[in-house]
Amino acid sequence: MHVVVNAAVSADGKLSSRRRDQIAISGDEDFGRVDRLRAESDAIAVGVGTVLADDPRLTVKDEQLRARRRENGRSANPARVVVDSSGRTPADAAVLDDAATTYVCVSENAPVERRADLADGAELITAGEKRVDLLRAVATLRERGIERLMVEGGGELIFSLFEDGLVDELRVFVGPQIIGGRDAPTLADGDGFVAEFPTLELAEIDRLDGGVVLTWRVEDR
Ligand code: NAP
Repeated sequence: MHVVVNAAVSADGKLSSRRRDQIAISGDEDFGRVDRLRAESDAIAVGVGTVLADDPRLTVKDEQLRARRRENGRSANPARVVVDSSGRTPADAAVLDDAATTYVCVSENAPVERRADLADGAELITAGEKRVDLLRAVATLRERGIERLMVEGGGELIFSLFEDGLVDELRVFVGPQIIGGRDAPTLADGDGFVAEFPTLELAEIDRLDGGVVLTWRVEDR
Protein backbone atom coordinates (compact mmCIF):
# COMPACT_ATOMS: atom_id res chain seq x y z
CA MET A 1 0.00 0.00 0.00
CA HIS A 2 1.16 3.54 -0.77
CA VAL A 3 0.52 5.94 2.13
CA VAL A 4 0.55 9.70 1.50
CA VAL A 5 0.23 12.08 4.45
CA ASN A 6 -1.15 15.48 3.48
CA ALA A 7 -1.53 18.43 5.84
CA ALA A 8 -1.41 22.21 6.02
CA VAL A 9 0.77 23.87 8.64
CA SER A 10 1.54 27.44 9.56
CA ALA A 11 5.07 28.77 8.97
CA ASP A 12 5.86 27.63 12.52
CA GLY A 13 4.63 24.09 11.92
CA LYS A 14 1.22 24.19 13.65
CA LEU A 15 -1.84 22.31 12.37
CA SER A 16 -4.20 24.47 14.41
CA SER A 17 -4.23 26.84 17.37
CA ARG A 18 -4.23 25.82 21.02
CA ARG A 19 -8.06 25.81 20.81
CA ARG A 20 -7.73 22.93 18.30
CA ASP A 21 -10.41 24.37 16.02
CA GLN A 22 -10.23 24.33 12.24
CA ILE A 23 -8.08 27.17 10.84
CA ALA A 24 -7.83 28.34 7.21
CA ILE A 25 -4.08 27.90 6.72
CA SER A 26 -4.16 27.59 2.91
CA GLY A 27 -6.58 28.88 0.26
CA ASP A 28 -8.51 27.92 -2.88
CA GLU A 29 -5.50 26.76 -4.90
CA ASP A 30 -4.51 24.38 -2.16
CA PHE A 31 -8.10 23.14 -1.70
CA GLY A 32 -8.03 22.21 -5.41
CA ARG A 33 -4.74 20.35 -4.96
CA VAL A 34 -6.10 18.46 -1.93
CA ASP A 35 -9.30 17.61 -3.81
CA ARG A 36 -7.29 16.12 -6.71
CA LEU A 37 -5.19 14.11 -4.26
CA ARG A 38 -8.38 12.83 -2.60
CA ALA A 39 -9.77 11.85 -6.00
CA GLU A 40 -6.61 9.80 -6.74
CA SER A 41 -6.91 7.89 -3.45
CA ASP A 42 -8.74 4.70 -2.58
CA ALA A 43 -9.33 5.89 0.99
CA ILE A 44 -8.79 8.94 3.21
CA ALA A 45 -7.89 8.47 6.87
CA VAL A 46 -8.02 10.72 9.93
CA GLY A 47 -7.68 10.20 13.67
CA VAL A 48 -10.73 10.56 15.90
CA GLY A 49 -9.20 13.78 17.29
CA THR A 50 -9.74 15.37 13.88
CA VAL A 51 -13.30 14.05 13.65
CA LEU A 52 -14.10 15.54 17.07
CA ALA A 53 -12.36 18.87 16.32
CA ASP A 54 -13.31 19.51 12.68
CA ASP A 55 -16.12 17.06 11.77
CA PRO A 56 -14.74 16.70 8.19
CA ARG A 57 -16.76 14.93 5.47
CA LEU A 58 -13.65 13.82 3.54
CA THR A 59 -15.35 13.72 0.14
CA VAL A 60 -14.24 14.91 -3.31
CA LYS A 61 -15.81 18.36 -3.81
CA ASP A 62 -15.31 18.79 -7.59
CA GLU A 63 -18.14 17.15 -9.57
CA GLN A 64 -15.85 16.52 -12.58
CA LEU A 65 -13.37 14.63 -10.42
CA ARG A 66 -16.19 12.50 -9.02
CA ALA A 67 -17.52 11.87 -12.54
CA ARG A 68 -14.05 10.80 -13.72
CA ARG A 69 -13.79 8.31 -10.87
CA ARG A 70 -17.20 6.85 -11.85
CA GLU A 71 -16.12 6.61 -15.51
CA ASN A 72 -13.13 4.58 -14.33
CA GLY A 73 -15.46 2.16 -12.54
CA ARG A 74 -14.74 3.52 -9.06
CA SER A 75 -17.07 4.91 -6.42
CA ALA A 76 -17.64 8.68 -6.72
CA ASN A 77 -15.77 9.23 -3.44
CA PRO A 78 -12.89 7.30 -1.87
CA ALA A 79 -13.62 5.30 1.26
CA ARG A 80 -13.10 7.02 4.61
CA VAL A 81 -11.16 5.65 7.57
CA VAL A 82 -11.32 6.85 11.18
CA VAL A 83 -8.71 5.60 13.66
CA ASP A 84 -10.67 5.51 16.90
CA SER A 85 -9.61 3.03 19.63
CA SER A 86 -12.68 3.35 21.85
CA GLY A 87 -15.31 4.27 19.27
CA ARG A 88 -15.68 7.95 20.22
CA THR A 89 -16.81 8.99 16.71
CA PRO A 90 -20.25 10.62 17.21
CA ALA A 91 -23.12 8.80 15.47
CA ASP A 92 -23.96 12.03 13.60
CA ALA A 93 -20.38 12.69 12.40
CA ALA A 94 -20.23 13.89 8.78
CA VAL A 95 -17.76 11.13 8.00
CA LEU A 96 -20.55 8.58 8.61
CA ASP A 97 -22.92 9.99 5.98
CA ASP A 98 -23.83 7.88 2.95
CA ALA A 99 -21.46 9.63 0.50
CA ALA A 100 -18.90 6.81 0.77
CA THR A 101 -17.98 3.64 2.60
CA THR A 102 -16.51 4.36 6.04
CA TYR A 103 -14.23 2.10 8.05
CA VAL A 104 -13.84 2.85 11.74
CA CYS A 105 -10.73 1.16 13.13
CA VAL A 106 -11.27 0.36 16.81
CA SER A 107 -9.33 -1.63 19.41
CA GLU A 108 -10.58 -4.58 21.44
CA ASN A 109 -11.14 -1.98 24.18
CA ALA A 110 -14.07 -0.30 22.37
CA PRO A 111 -17.29 -0.70 24.41
CA VAL A 112 -19.96 -2.94 22.87
CA GLU A 113 -22.54 -0.09 22.82
CA ARG A 114 -20.18 2.19 20.89
CA ARG A 115 -19.49 -0.58 18.36
CA ALA A 116 -23.23 -1.16 17.93
CA ASP A 117 -23.86 2.58 17.38
CA LEU A 118 -21.09 2.86 14.79
CA ALA A 119 -21.92 -0.37 12.96
CA ASP A 120 -25.00 1.41 11.49
CA GLY A 121 -22.99 3.84 9.35
CA ALA A 122 -19.58 2.15 9.15
CA GLU A 123 -17.70 -1.09 8.81
CA LEU A 124 -15.71 -1.75 11.97
CA ILE A 125 -12.14 -3.05 11.82
CA THR A 126 -10.80 -4.31 15.16
CA ALA A 127 -7.02 -4.08 15.46
CA GLY A 128 -5.01 -3.88 18.68
CA GLU A 129 -5.79 -4.33 22.36
CA LYS A 130 -5.93 -0.80 23.78
CA ARG A 131 -4.90 1.51 20.97
CA VAL A 132 -5.48 0.82 17.31
CA ASP A 133 -2.61 -1.29 15.96
CA LEU A 134 -1.93 0.62 12.76
CA LEU A 135 0.09 -2.14 11.06
CA ARG A 136 -2.82 -4.55 11.48
CA ALA A 137 -5.43 -1.97 10.50
CA VAL A 138 -3.49 -1.14 7.32
CA ALA A 139 -3.17 -4.85 6.48
CA THR A 140 -6.96 -5.23 6.79
CA LEU A 141 -7.57 -2.16 4.64
CA ARG A 142 -5.30 -3.67 2.00
CA GLU A 143 -7.48 -6.81 2.07
CA ARG A 144 -10.45 -4.51 1.34
CA GLY A 145 -8.71 -3.39 -1.86
CA ILE A 146 -7.17 -0.13 -0.60
CA GLU A 147 -3.86 0.41 -2.38
CA ARG A 148 -3.50 4.17 -2.10
CA LEU A 149 -4.25 5.69 1.30
CA MET A 150 -4.26 9.44 1.92
CA VAL A 151 -3.95 10.55 5.55
CA GLU A 152 -5.24 14.00 6.46
CA GLY A 153 -4.16 14.21 10.09
CA GLY A 154 -4.00 15.01 12.81
CA GLY A 155 -0.63 15.20 14.53
CA GLU A 156 -1.10 12.19 16.83
CA LEU A 157 -2.02 9.86 14.00
CA ILE A 158 0.70 11.20 11.70
CA PHE A 159 3.39 10.63 14.35
CA SER A 160 2.23 7.04 14.95
CA LEU A 161 2.29 6.29 11.22
CA PHE A 162 5.89 7.52 11.02
CA GLU A 163 6.75 5.51 14.15
CA ASP A 164 5.39 2.35 12.50
CA GLY A 165 7.28 3.09 9.27
CA LEU A 166 4.03 3.27 7.31
CA VAL A 167 4.46 6.61 5.49
CA ASP A 168 5.76 6.66 1.91
CA GLU A 169 5.21 10.31 1.06
CA LEU A 170 4.52 13.56 2.93
CA ARG A 171 2.91 16.55 1.23
CA VAL A 172 2.71 19.62 3.37
CA PHE A 173 1.41 23.07 2.58
CA VAL A 174 3.38 25.60 4.64
CA GLY A 175 1.33 28.76 5.00
CA PRO A 176 2.11 32.41 5.60
CA GLN A 177 1.14 32.78 9.25
CA ILE A 178 2.49 32.15 12.75
CA ILE A 179 0.11 30.36 15.11
CA GLY A 180 2.41 29.58 18.01
CA GLY A 181 1.45 27.95 21.29
CA ARG A 182 3.26 25.13 23.05
CA ASP A 183 -0.01 23.19 23.25
CA ALA A 184 -1.08 23.78 19.65
CA PRO A 185 -0.96 20.59 17.53
CA THR A 186 1.96 20.20 15.15
CA LEU A 187 2.45 18.01 12.09
CA ALA A 188 3.81 15.13 14.19
CA ASP A 189 2.96 15.04 17.90
CA GLY A 190 2.82 11.79 19.89
CA ASP A 191 5.84 11.18 22.16
CA GLY A 192 8.30 12.36 19.52
CA PHE A 193 11.49 10.64 18.41
CA VAL A 194 14.74 11.04 20.34
CA ALA A 195 16.94 9.09 17.92
CA GLU A 196 16.63 7.26 14.61
CA PHE A 197 14.56 10.08 13.19
CA PRO A 198 12.72 9.21 10.00
CA THR A 199 14.49 11.03 7.16
CA LEU A 200 12.99 12.52 4.05
CA GLU A 201 14.09 13.33 0.55
CA LEU A 202 12.73 16.54 -0.96
CA ALA A 203 11.02 15.69 -4.27
CA GLU A 204 9.10 18.87 -5.22
CA ILE A 205 8.50 22.48 -4.20
CA ASP A 206 5.46 24.36 -5.51
CA ARG A 207 4.42 27.92 -4.65
CA LEU A 208 0.70 28.52 -4.15
CA ASP A 209 -1.71 30.52 -2.00
CA GLY A 210 1.16 32.64 -0.67
CA GLY A 211 2.93 29.58 0.72
CA VAL A 212 4.64 26.43 -0.53
CA VAL A 213 3.76 22.80 -0.95
CA LEU A 214 6.67 20.54 -0.10
CA THR A 215 6.55 16.97 -1.39
CA TRP A 216 8.84 14.67 0.56
CA ARG A 217 9.57 10.99 -0.02
CA VAL A 218 10.23 9.03 3.16
CA GLU A 219 13.49 7.12 3.14
CA ASP A 220 13.53 3.50 4.33
CA ARG A 221 14.67 2.99 7.88
P1 NAP B 1 -5.78 12.97 15.52
O1 NAP B 1 -4.39 12.62 15.15
O2 NAP B 1 -6.75 13.30 14.45
O3 NAP B 1 -6.41 11.76 16.35
C1 NAP B 1 -5.67 11.25 17.44
C2 NAP B 1 -6.45 10.19 18.14
O4 NAP B 1 -6.54 9.02 17.33
C3 NAP B 1 -5.75 9.74 19.39
O5 NAP B 1 -5.98 10.63 20.45
C4 NAP B 1 -6.37 8.39 19.61
O6 NAP B 1 -7.59 8.52 20.32
C5 NAP B 1 -6.68 7.91 18.17
N1 NAP B 1 -5.77 6.84 17.87
C6 NAP B 1 -6.10 5.52 17.87
N2 NAP B 1 -5.06 4.77 17.60
C7 NAP B 1 -4.02 5.60 17.42
C8 NAP B 1 -2.66 5.37 17.13
N3 NAP B 1 -2.16 4.14 16.95
N4 NAP B 1 -1.86 6.44 17.04
C9 NAP B 1 -2.34 7.70 17.20
N5 NAP B 1 -3.63 7.97 17.48
C10 NAP B 1 -4.46 6.91 17.59
O7 NAP B 1 -5.86 14.12 16.62
P2 NAP B 1 -4.95 15.37 16.99
O8 NAP B 1 -3.52 15.06 16.90
O9 NAP B 1 -5.53 15.92 18.23
O10 NAP B 1 -5.25 16.38 15.80
C11 NAP B 1 -6.43 17.12 15.76
C12 NAP B 1 -6.06 18.56 15.48
O11 NAP B 1 -5.40 18.65 14.22
C13 NAP B 1 -7.26 19.49 15.39
O12 NAP B 1 -6.90 20.72 15.97
C14 NAP B 1 -7.46 19.67 13.89
O13 NAP B 1 -8.05 20.92 13.60
C15 NAP B 1 -6.05 19.61 13.40
N6 NAP B 1 -5.92 19.16 12.01
C16 NAP B 1 -5.32 20.00 11.13
C17 NAP B 1 -5.09 19.59 9.82
C18 NAP B 1 -4.36 20.46 8.85
O14 NAP B 1 -4.03 20.02 7.73
N7 NAP B 1 -4.05 21.70 9.21
C19 NAP B 1 -5.52 18.31 9.41
C20 NAP B 1 -6.16 17.50 10.34
C21 NAP B 1 -6.33 17.92 11.64
P3 NAP B 1 -8.16 7.23 21.07
O15 NAP B 1 -7.09 6.83 22.05
O16 NAP B 1 -9.42 7.64 21.67
O17 NAP B 1 -8.31 6.22 20.01
